[in-house]
Amino acid sequence: MNIITLIKQVPDTTDIKTDPKTGNLIREGIESIINPDDRHAIEVAVSLKEKYKGKSIVVSMGPPQAIDAISEAIGMGIDEGILLADRNFGGADTWATSFTLGKAIEKINAYDLILCGRQAIDGDTAQIGPQVAEFLGLPQLTYVMDIEEVDDRRIIVKRGLGNGYERVESPLPALITVIGELNKPRYPRVDLLINACKENARITLWNAADLKVSVQEIGLSGSLTRVIKTFSPKVKREGEMLKGDKGEAVGQLIERLAGNYLI
Ligand SMILES: Cc1cc2nc3c(=O)[nH]c(=O)nc-3n(C[C@H](O)[C@H](O)[C@H](O)COP(=O)(O)OP(=O)(O)OC[C@H]3O[C@@H](n4cnc5c(N)ncnc54)[C@H](O)[C@@H]3O)c2cc1C
Repeated sequence: MNIITLIKQVPDTTDIKTDPKTGNLIREGIESIINPDDRHAIEVAVSLKEKYKGKSIVVSMGPPQAIDAISEAIGMGIDEGILLADRNFGGADTWATSFTLGKAIEKINAYDLILCGRQAIDGDTAQIGPQVAEFLGLPQLTYVMDIEEVDDRRIIVKRGLGNGYERVESPLPALITVIGELNKPRYPRVDLLINACKENARITLWNAADLKVSVQEIGLSGSLTRVIKTFSPKVKREGEMLKGDKGEAVGQLIERLAGNYLI
């Protein structure tokens, strides 16, 4: 079974701050990690490979430092990594990102299953998996919390619905997006990690020319949306001191709460 896992390197924080002047993410002083949902996807890929053999590849689009994320995935047991790195990929919205990832998957060609995290903790859109599936014309199973059965022709999964689940069967190849309940990702093995860093042969870099895409189709030029402004909402809390002795203050508090239908 050949499995492609899409992974994104993200800042190790959910407290995203943007530069008010440029609107860009402030990355200084923030460690980068593999997007948490993607670690669960890697765990699926490695476990399925251990069971069914075949090849597992991770693909990431990002700047050169995303090699660290790919090396960590190899440390967890993934066979190979491909980094889509080209200045022209920069500024991509989710449409252009999905198009570029889709082109890379088309180039790899041999796959039974594509795995994604449900959502990245920085961009937070949860659009990439479904868009890549649409681009490739594949069935998509999102919010996967359990893989019940899989063979080389079909997969049966449980999709988390918040207060329950849905059991769905799909033919392969298919794309699934996974959530944290699915498994417990393993830690990278030090020997595999060292090998990944030593043998860069296991990590391939592809640029726009490798994907045979034009500059107009990718990055900022290929994006259908433009960010006009980014800002952090200002949170204003207004406090009020209740007057009178304790008994009066409690009475007033109950009145306010009841008036706002809170009790
Ligand atoms: C309107 C708009 C404009 C944007 N403009 C810019 C910009 O100018 N510059 C800029 O840097 N970013 C920009 N972005 C952010 C960029 O589009 C996203 O970082 C990227 O498309 C991934 O979306 P996401 O983070 O929401 O991923 P999600 O859809 O939340 O991620 C789901 C899963 O998809 C996979 N995935 C996501 N991204 C990647 C990736 N790069 N490589 C491999 N797998 C991946 C992972 O498995 C991940 O768990 C913009 C986003 C929007 C919505």
